[in-house]
Amino acid sequence: MFSETNLRELLEFTSPQPVLSVYLNTEPSEGNADVYKLRLRNMLKSVNLPKDVAAVERYFDREYDWSGRSVAVFSCSGENFFRAYPLALAVRDFIFVGDRPSVKILADLMDNYGGYGVVLVDKQGARLFYFHLGELREQDGVLGELVKHTKRGGASSKPGRRGGTAGQTQYADEVVERNMKEAADFAVRFFEENHVRRVLIGGTDDNVAQFRSLLPKAWQSLVKGTFAIGMTASHAEVLARTMQIGNEAERQREASLVENLITTALKKGNATIGVEDTLKAVSEGRAQTLVVSEGFHLAGYRCTGCYNLTLSGASNHCTVCGAKLEAVPDVIELAVGEAMRRGGEVEVMHANPSFEKHGSIGAYLRY
Ligand SMILES: [Zn+2]
Repeated sequence: MFSETNLRELLEFTSPQPVLSVYLNTEPSEGNADVYKLRLRNMLKSVNLPKDVAAVERYFDREYDWSGRSVAVFSCSGENFFRAYPLALAVRDFIFVGDRPSVKILADLMDNYGGYGVVLVDKQGARLFYFHLGELREQDGVLGELVKHTKRGGASSKPGRRGGTAGQTQYADEVVERNMKEAADFAVRFFEENHVRRVLIGGTDDNVAQFRSLLPKAWQSLVKGTFAIGMTASHAEVLARTMQIGNEAERQREASLVENLITTALKKGNATIGVEDTLKAVSEGRAQTLVVSEGFHLAGYRCTGCYNLTLSGASNHCTVCGAKLEAVPDVIELAVGEAMRRGGEVEVMHANPSFEKHGSIGAYLRY
C-alpha cells in the first residue's frame, strides 16, 4: 500500500543520477499482461537508461501480479533505488526522466482518495471502515445495548394518553445517547489508529447529526460528507459512495484549476489558453504546467529543424527557423511529451465543458 511515508520518501529523493518514473495503467477490464507489456515497451523506447529499463521490465516480468488497476515504478540504478507501488485506482500512462521521481500523479491520488474514515451509524452502534486509495484497509464495529421501543404491559390503548410510556421513552433515549457516545469514542480511536485524514458519515439524517455532534471538534472539522445508507450495506457499496466523494473532490480541483487558468490567460498573466498559443509556449520551453483535456487529439505539424509544433502547415516551412514542416497525426501528444521533457508538469482534465470551449489545452508559463 502506498502511504504518506512512501510519498515523503519519493519527494525527498534526489540524485545526480537520472531517476526514471513510470506510471502504467493496467486496468484489468481493458486488456491483459501482454497488451500492457507492449505499451510499456513502447514507452520505455525513448529512455536511454539500460539498467533502469531492465529493472522496470524485470519487475513487470517477475513481480507484478497484474491485479491492480495501475502501477507506479521509480528506478535510479545509480543509487540502487527501486520502488514499485501497485494501485487500486487507475492512472494514465506516464513516463519521466529527471533528477527526482515524478510524484505529481501519486500526490493527486493521495489528495483525492487517501485516508478516508467512513462510519455507518444507527441508534445501537456503528460500523467503521478505513479506505485508502480505493482499497478497504481496515474495518471494525461497535454494538451497544439494544434499544427497546416496545411499551411495557400495553400501557395505553387510548389515543392521546400515553401513560406509562414516558419513562420507557426516556430510557430508550438514554440508551441511544449512551450507544452513540460509545460509538463516537470508538470511531475516534479507529480514526487515530488508521491516520484518517477525512471522515464520511452514513445513516439517517437524525443519526448522522447526533453522531456528528458527539465527535470532538477536531474530528467534526474533518467530516467531508454524509450520506444515507443502510447499516447492512456491503463494504463494496460503502467504497462506491466514498469513491463518489473522491471523484467529486477531484472534479472540483480540476474545475478551479481550469477557471484560474482561463482567467489568468485572459488577463494576459503567466498562462496561455488555446491550441496554437499553447503549442508555441511548449515549443519555446515556457510551459511549466501543461493542462489538457483527457482524450484530446489533433493532427498538426512539427518542424524538422527546431521541432517547433504548430497547427498551421500552410507555408510548409517553420516560421521560427525556416526548415521544412512535417505533418504529424497527433500534435497534442507531442506537446505533452515535449512539456515533460523540459521538466514541466502535465494536468489532465476530465469532461470540463468550460475548458473545451477554450480549446481543451492551455498552460501555466514559466515566464
Ligand atoms: Zn523550426
